[in-house]
Amino acid sequence: MAIRIALVGMGKIARDQHLPAIAADPDFELVATVSPHHAGVDGIPHLPDLETLLTEGPALDAVALCTPPQVRHALAMTAIGHGVHLFLEKPPGATLGEVVALETAADAAGVTLFASWHSRFAAGVAPARDWLARREIRSVRITWREDVRVWHPGQAWIWEAGGFGVFDPGINALSIATAILPRRLLLTEALLEFPANREAPIAAILGLRDTAGTPVAMDLDWRQTGPQSWDIEVDTDAGRLTLSEGGAVLALPDGSTRQPDGEYPAMYAHFASLVRDRASDVDVDPLRLVADAFLRGRRKIVEAFDA
Ligand code: NAP
Repeated sequence: MAIRIALVGMGKIARDQHLPAIAADPDFELVATVSPHHAGVDGIPHLPDLETLLTEGPALDAVALCTPPQVRHALAMTAIGHGVHLFLEKPPGATLGEVVALETAADAAGVTLFASWHSRFAAGVAPARDWLARREIRSVRITWREDVRVWHPGQAWIWEAGGFGVFDPGINALSIATAILPRRLLLTEALLEFPANREAPIAAILGLRDTAGTPVAMDLDWRQTGPQSWDIEVDTDAGRLTLSEGGAVLALPDGSTRQPDGEYPAMYAHFASLVRDRASDVDVDPLRLVADAFLRGRRKIVEAFDA
C-alpha cells in the first residue's frame, strides 16, 4: 500500500521538487498540503497548519517538512507526537540540539526520521566517493559561489538568525564533502562576512582539515553574478577529481560524466525503504561543521545588502 504523505510548507522546494517526485513515485500518495499563506494543489485537501492537518485532516502515514529551518523542530515534534513518519528538508534543524532531540523522540515513538541532504543524491556523488576510497587525497578545494538575488528572491527567513545565510547553499557542499571524503573533517578557521543590516552571513572562507591533516579550503559567496560555481576539486595521487554543478557532473583524470538530475526521486525511494524497514537516517555532520564555523569564525561586517 502506498505511503500516504502530506507536504508542509508549499514554497519553492515543495513545488519545484517534492510535488513532481511524489507524483512520479507509486510508493507515495499525496493526501494533503499545509501552508499558512501559499495555496495548495487542485484536488488535494489544503490545511493552514500542521496541527489542524493532524487532528482534522485525512489519515496519513508521513509528512515532508519543507519549511524554513527555524520552525522545523516544533513542527517535527508535533508530527512525531502523532506517530507520523518524517522527511525533513535540509538543514534538519536550526541547532544541533534540536536534531538530537528529534532523533531521540522519533526513536521512542517508533517512527522513521529521514534528515535529508539532497546534494548527496546528486549523480556524481556515489561514484566520486568510490573513486576517492582507493586514492591518497592531498588537498580539497570547495567553491560555492552563487547569486542570492537569483536563487533566494524574497526569502526573508534566510537572512534571519537560524536561516543560515550563505550556509543555506554552503551546507549542501559540506553534505557532499562529508559523504565523499573518507575521513572526518574538522574546522580549523573561518571568516564570516555579515552585511551590516543582516543577521546571517553573505560570504565565508573556511579552513578545514581531515583527521589525517589533509587541507580542505572552502569559499562561499552569495555575491556572484555571471557564471555560478558549485564545485569541489580533490587532488589525489592519481590526479584530480572534480565534482561540479552541485554534484551532477563528475570529472576524473580519464574523462567526465553527466547524469540526469534525479536527486528528489532518489530521496523519496530512500524514504520509502526507510519507512518499510522501520529505520531512520540522520547525519548531523554537515550541520556540525556549520555550527563550528559560527563558533570558531571571525566576523567582519560588510556593506549592507538590499534585495
Ligand atoms: P520558501 O520558498 O520560503 O518556502 C518555505 C515555505 O514554508 C513557505 O511557503 C511558508 O509558507 C512555509 N512555512 C513557514 N512556516 C511554516 C509553518 N509554521 N507551517 C507550515 N509552513 C510554513 O523556502 P524554500 O526555498 O522552499 O526552502 C525551504 C527549505 O528547503 C529550506 O530549509 C531550504 O534550505 C530547503 N531547500 C531549498 C531549496 C531551493 O532551491 N529553494 C533546495 C533544497 C532545499 P507560507 O508562504 O504559506 O507562509
